[in-house]
Amino acid sequence: MKAQKTHNIYNPKMECMSREERRKLQGERLRATVQLEYDNVPLYRARMDAKGVKPEDIKSIDDLKLLPFTEKTDLRDEFPFGLFASPKKDIIRIQGSSGTTGKPIVAGYTQNDIDVWTEMVARAMTAAGGGPDDIVQIAYGYGLFTGGLGAHQGAQQIGAMVVPMSSGNTQRQIMMMHDLGATMLCCTPSYATYLGESIREMGIPISEFKLKSGCFGAEPWTEGMRQRLEELLDIDACDIYGLTEIGGPGVAFECLEKDGMHVNEDHVIAEIIDPVTEEQLPYGTPGELVFTTITKTGMPMIRYRTHDICTLSDKPCACGRTTIKMSRITGRTDDMLVIRGVNVFPSQIESVLVGMEGVAPHYMLVVDRINSTDKLEVQVELTEEMFTDKVGEIEGLRNQIADKIKSVVGISAKIQLVPPRTIPRSEGKAKRIIDNRKL
Ligand code: ADP
Ligand code: ZN
Repeated sequence: MKAQKTHNIYNPKMECMSREERRKLQGERLRATVQLEYDNVPLYRARMDAKGVKPEDIKSIDDLKLLPFTEKTDLRDEFPFGLFASPKKDIIRIQGSSGTTGKPIVAGYTQNDIDVWTEMVARAMTAAGGGPDDIVQIAYGYGLFTGGLGAHQGAQQIGAMVVPMSSGNTQRQIMMMHDLGATMLCCTPSYATYLGESIREMGIPISEFKLKSGCFGAEPWTEGMRQRLEELLDIDACDIYGLTEIGGPGVAFECLEKDGMHVNEDHVIAEIIDPVTEEQLPYGTPGELVFTTITKTGMPMIRYRTHDICTLSDKPCACGRTTIKMSRITGRTDDMLVIRGVNVFPSQIESVLVGMEGVAPHYMLVVDRINSTDKLEVQVELTEEMFTDKVGEIEGLRNQIADKIKSVVGISAKIQLVPPRTIPRSEGKAKRIIDNRKL
């Protein structure tokens, strides 16, 4: 059962204010954040001094470009507490990244930061159709990873009944979802797909579930994957984006228009830059997403380079929110593969596969270097039906996938079709790449 397409808004004052008013507010908040950093964080003071910028030079958000960038390596270098802008006694929570790209980093939150984050997720859940009548099953991990607690706080804030399952234990997830009549689900899109497939395999009719929508994020996914997930679970699937450094999930979220994620602009400023020249790019041009937090006090971030690739848009949205929207993340520069000089993102391969008959949306890219030449192998899972009833068609399917990948990505890949359920499923972020060249 899909969500009613209501456009309820959690904080209309902040989410629907005029662009001019918001720019002014952002400028004031930016100025205060820069002052806080300059006074309390030696790394920022040194970087600003080196650029000859003083906090009083920051008068509006147009001055953002005067400020230095922050990189993930800065968080590692200053690990664990070097970037705190508030005294340690005011930090009430530590969260950490899921560690997709190396050693985990940690962030510290003051009570103010937890409140800000909670509100951001409450806005996201409201936008996905959530409210006090909902039963929200949280299947994001609750570790240091921000997904579990982030979604939990937001769901609690909108007055929903929270089911804090955490990730994993799929059979139990399904039993609880069924017996409690969960109406919303929050987890990674890959895990949600796995839950959906498992329900089908167990033979429970989807009509016995009460799910209507969910907030799915923490990893890149495609529009095709959304359709697949929506069919599997008979729900509206909304995208939600965030990262530990900026405050966890809820930095941006989709409304039920499902056409890009609204950025919580009264709390963060988003920019797109050219990753090489570091120049700001106009709306509509793809580039690297950069965030500046403007209300956080524990570990604020100035011009944090996310390494995520997307576009921003200021086109009005039918829901009434006036915030800018970010597109889906098409990839992170960290998991962009350069194969024989061509840039390849897993999402490109996914977009080829999800629309095809006979294959499941589970795949793995394996890269090797043989005789100084890069070789890409794409492992693709067959559906049960294809595997058992249509073996004769498998060769044709292999060629079809190879041709499509060649035309979309521009390189040839070896396609290996594997039996159903042989590519490892993830309970959190899906792993899609094995790069043997680095070993
Ligand atoms: P990491 O994955 O680097 O260990 P986090 O757990 O903080 O760290 O996750 C943040 C990253 O997850 C983002 O920078 C982005 O690459 C990815 N991410 C989060 N939400 C989404 C989303 N909705 N779509 C695509 N990618 C996302
Ligand atoms: Zn909207």
